[in-house]
Amino acid sequence: MSKPVGEDETSLDAAPPDVTSGATPASTSPVEIEDAQYYSMLEAIGQSTEDVIVITDGQGQVVYGNPNAQKLFGVTLEEAVGTQARLYLHPDDLERNLLFFAEVISTPGTSARQDVRTMSPHGEVRHLEVVCTNLLDDPSIHGIIINGKDVTERNEYVRRLQALEERFRLAFEENMAPMSFADVDDHILAVNDAFCEMVGFSREELIGRDSTPFTYPDDVGLTESTHQRVMSGLADRVRYVKRYLRKDGHVIDVEVSRSPARDAEGHILYFVFSERDITEEKKLTAQLSHQALYDSITGLANRTLMENQLAKSRASVKRRGGFNALFLLDLDDFKGVNDTQGHLIGDELLIAVARRFEAVTRPADTLCRFGGDEFLYLAEGLTSIDDVKGIARRLLAALEDPFHFLDISVEQRASAGVVVWGAADSEQIDLLQNADVALYEAKRYHRGTFVLYEPSMHEEASNRFLMIQELRNALARDELELHYQPIVHLPDTTVVGFEGLIRWHHPERGWIAPGEFIPLAESSDIILDIGALALRSAVAAASRWTPSRPQDPAPFVCVNLSAKQFHSANLVPMVESVLRRYDVPATQLILEITEGVAISNFSESMNTIRRLELLGVGLALDDFGTGFSSLSYLAKINPRIIKVDKSFVQLASSSQRDATLLEAIVTLGKNLNITMLAEGVETSEQFSRLTALGCSMAQGYLFAPAVKLELANAMVDANFTSHLGTADVGP
Ligand code: C2E
Ligand code: CA
Ligand code: CA
Repeated sequence: MSKPVGEDETSLDAAPPDVTSGATPASTSPVEIEDAQYYSMLEAIGQSTEDVIVITDGQGQVVYGNPNAQKLFGVTLEEAVGTQARLYLHPDDLERNLLFFAEVISTPGTSARQDVRTMSPHGEVRHLEVVCTNLLDDPSIHGIIINGKDVTERNEYVRRLQALEERFRLAFEENMAPMSFADVDDHILAVNDAFCEMVGFSREELIGRDSTPFTYPDDVGLTESTHQRVMSGLADRVRYVKRYLRKDGHVIDVEVSRSPARDAEGHILYFVFSERDITEEKKLTAQLSHQALYDSITGLANRTLMENQLAKSRASVKRRGGFNALFLLDLDDFKGVNDTQGHLIGDELLIAVARRFEAVTRPADTLCRFGGDEFLYLAEGLTSIDDVKGIARRLLAALEDPFHFLDISVEQRASAGVVVWGAADSEQIDLLQNADVALYEAKRYHRGTFVLYEPSMHEEASNRFLMIQELRNALARDELELHYQPIVHLPDTTVVGFEGLIRWHHPERGWIAPGEFIPLAESSDIILDIGALALRSAVAAASRWTPSRPQDPAPFVCVNLSAKQFHSANLVPMVESVLRRYDVPATQLILEITEGVAISNFSESMNTIRRLELLGVGLALDDFGTGFSSLSYLAKINPRIIKVDKSFVQLASSSQRDATLLEAIVTLGKNLNITMLAEGVETSEQFSRLTALGCSMAQGYLFAPAVKLELANAMVDANFTSHLGTADVGP
């Protein structure tokens, strides 16, 4: 076979075989050898290798291309032979590569290596690692052997790896999370800025060392044991929390994730650490869990923690035998302290009380602030009821000495409800409810002491509950009615006004006095509805009353206000609107409050009093003499009327001491220019005494009890005057 099918050496490439501008043209010309022999030799070379083999003559014209080359460039041998090899070079690096080839071609016997980018006639680009050998002088070859190893895939792989490395480097170095690498001995290989910042050491100080110098001493072992666990194959990726000792001496909590990087055989090459400073987070969680279980003011256990403890104690009493006791302690009149001394002193007092209770708490017992001014004390493993009483006495006695805050001294006592239980009733007993029932009993009848719960109390408690329900129904069914007790002028006993007194007309029990249901109503919001009803009825009644003589004022009406009502924001607007609705002059209405109500939350009370005064509504201090009776408060409140409590009026006849007290009170009022009204006048002796003292108004069975509206109206119309007694009227 001759040279490939009838192709002229230059016919495929019109360009002269000038391989490069600067290169010296090949000095040798093709040697005529026996074609067949020559080609079979080339075939032998070409097929013995994985590489791409191309042989050119001294002008760069392809003489031979092995099957790998034909495949790579997508041409047949026939198509390739006689073409210029330069046609297969990538145009972008053409110049550089031509220079390389020219260099080799120009010096027979030389060999050189270069990475060459090729491009097939179809546009496919490959990367070859080329060794080009000038064998022009070799008589058997007489050509240039181009041996190319296709490294396209490998190059691509390397390039991708490099890109990956760069991305990884960025991810590592720029990462906000502290990261580090360590070798199999846990010596640091690399750290990022965030890591340096976290521990306060520089890169130079860290690299090559292990973490011992900046690990909190107690946690060095932890680091070592996690290292061991991964090394020994017990774990792969481990996450743990350790403490570092920063360069500045601060201890920080860090969550560490340690992952080993392994080679193809699974051997550990190095460790990657990703870490997170959780110091703040830990502090916050600790704070939150503390907040969740402890009272923020006193630092005592809170309700949640106590409930938990109670649940445990139910189980323990069954296991251990004996019995447990729960003490519900409630401060007496604590609201008064808060209102008169302010919340700061109130809080201080709670703290001081907590410390006193704490001082007498036995180590195994639990003390908690239950909320407001209530404390709970849980005692376990008791053997006798005397134990229980002993603890109760000790707790209450802890408050005996007054509390001192700067220049003020406060007396603060408590009452307690106690519930005792043993294994038998441990499951079903409602501890808190029973303690509450006993406390109610203590508050009501044995203030300042403790009461042990008895099942019978429960009945009373549920009766109270039922009564409130009934009272609600009573309101809805209009069973409550305001009656009116005349207030007379002294000494002539003309009726100058009435006090509205509420009564409940019970369908079965008949008339029920307010003493039976008002205190109960005061414990719930139902008192507001009752109060509103009393006010409406009283003002409506007064709107019908006209003076007996045109120059006299119309009879006034007094309405009792409960504490809740007086302190409700709605009071003044409600009074105003009721007066407007019935077109009654404000001066005809008098609101009765006790001193205690006026004094509690004094500044707010004074504000309400001023606003009522502005309206023209008068104020009467009810039950005077039974409460604080502080002169300075009295002067500030400046009521229109002082109602002297019936105890002074009634006892004055039997004891000289009370007679003197009554005289003192009446004189005080006269001097302050306040109208004095004596309550509960039952006898003519009381009447004469009061008249002699110069008391200007009175009210009592001697004149009339509270009567129904129609009768009150009749009294007004008849210009009622009486000290003859009309005890037969009314309910
Ligand atoms: P209070 O305001 O001190 O009312 C005077 C009480 O003394 C009335 O009892 C009245 O019936 C009674 N009383 C009148 N004259 C005499 C007498 O000569 N001798 C004796 N021993 N008692 C006399 P009542 O009606 O049972 O009311 C009891 C308390 O219930 C009242 O005491 C008042 O605090 C409260 N209350 C009555 N109505 C209302 C009301 O509408 N709202 C509020 N918040 N409380 C009311
Ligand atoms: Ca009253
Ligand atoms: Ca009274």
